[in-house]
Amino acid sequence: MTDAAHSLTLTDDAHALLAQLASLKTLFQLPDGVIYLDGNSLGPMPRCTATRLAHVISHDWAQGLIRSWNDAGWIDLPRRCAAALAPMVGCEPQELAIGDSTSLNLFKVLSLALSIQHQRAPERRIILSESDNFPTDLYIAEGLGAFLSQLGGPAWEVRTVLHDELMAQLTGPDAAHIGVLMLTEVNYRTGRRHDMQALTQAAHQAGALTVWDLAHSAGAFPVQLSAAQADFAVGCGYKYLNGGPGAPAFAFVAQRFFGQASALTGWLGHAAPFAFEQHWQGASGAASLQVGTPPVLSMEALLCGLQTLQQADALGGLAALRRKAELLTDRFIARTEAELTRYGLVLVTPKTLAQRGNQVSYVARPDAQGNTVDGYAVMQALIQRGVIGDFRAPDLIRFGFAPSYLDLADVDQAADILLDILATRSWDSEAMRTRAAVT
Ligand SMILES: *Cc1c(COP(=O)(O)O)cnc(C)c1O
Repeated sequence: MTDAAHSLTLTDDAHALLAQLASLKTLFQLPDGVIYLDGNSLGPMPRCTATRLAHVISHDWAQGLIRSWNDAGWIDLPRRCAAALAPMVGCEPQELAIGDSTSLNLFKVLSLALSIQHQRAPERRIILSESDNFPTDLYIAEGLGAFLSQLGGPAWEVRTVLHDELMAQLTGPDAAHIGVLMLTEVNYRTGRRHDMQALTQAAHQAGALTVWDLAHSAGAFPVQLSAAQADFAVGCGYKYLNGGPGAPAFAFVAQRFFGQASALTGWLGHAAPFAFEQHWQGASGAASLQVGTPPVLSMEALLCGLQTLQQADALGGLAALRRKAELLTDRFIARTEAELTRYGLVLVTPKTLAQRGNQVSYVARPDAQGNTVDGYAVMQALIQRGVIGDFRAPDLIRFGFAPSYLDLADVDQAADILLDILATRSWDSEAMRTRAAVT
């Protein structure tokens, strides 16, 4: 029996797990004829979201008007979202602030981490990150570092190294100069996952603080922020949390850092916003990171996304969903890897389960004849046949396997269509190569 055939055989436990979680799919409204493998970029719409938003618009807003801040609990939405999210990321609700984009939240928590290190150990001037971290994370760090230096402070260095070089940096000769370790737990390109606990421990031993980006973790598998001793984190609301396009993101601040102000001190992060005091005084807990008025429609949609995931609690929760995602990703790899290698598409996602998130990625390399398939065109051909994944420049195709609404049949069908597109070269046309504004 080959390896591939072996991984296609399911154990009884696996069958039971799939049956146990199957009902969750009905909670989502997915278009007919679509296999959605892009929930790691934009989660699909939970059915309850359409109903809920229709009510919020026609009742709470149209009829309730400004009274709804109190009567419909709009002002409490960030707190209610935090309560739903906290168990999924392994922290206390007071340690979470909901709102703004991931980029903005990163600015907030990074400003906090830098100012704490500036007070504690001003010689620590390195923000250590990974070379292929998501660009916005690196841009925010560069921008904040440059801004602080322009004001006359000593320069901050954003040092980026490869995944495998991080530990050596944390234990090497420059360890005493590292202020912050800023990483995305699951790499958006390769799907490779860091060991959050081990790296956080190494960072602390080096005297550095940690900032984790959970964009591809929150809602994908159980995250244990407190158990890992994480200092700060941010995450995204519109990926595995299914909060809708542009959904509010979140920031995590460990309790031991409560009482410190970030660089964004808005009125809704004030201890008493409606006292309209002249000077800022932070609300208790991470709520001090709230800045302005919450986007109510988007917050309501995020809450629906979170409540939809909560329905998995009775079925084993995120731990069970993660085991299902492992089955789905294993299956997709087993069905595609050997064939795809022949076309020069190389698997860049680790096969070791603990080392990957819920996505599988291939990069296009020259095949034996020196020809390279056009990854963008392959993805367009897939989308045209109802299999929606995405392409990341310059050469990577990505497939996300959100376990709440995908099953084995979806994975098998997606794999068959992918193999057919490559065998028939139906990707090889001008129409497939024409790039849209958003990829
Ligand atoms: C998706 C993603 C973001 C998104 O940031 P926005 O501010 O919401 O645009 C940030 N970081 C990572 C790692 C991501 O994957």
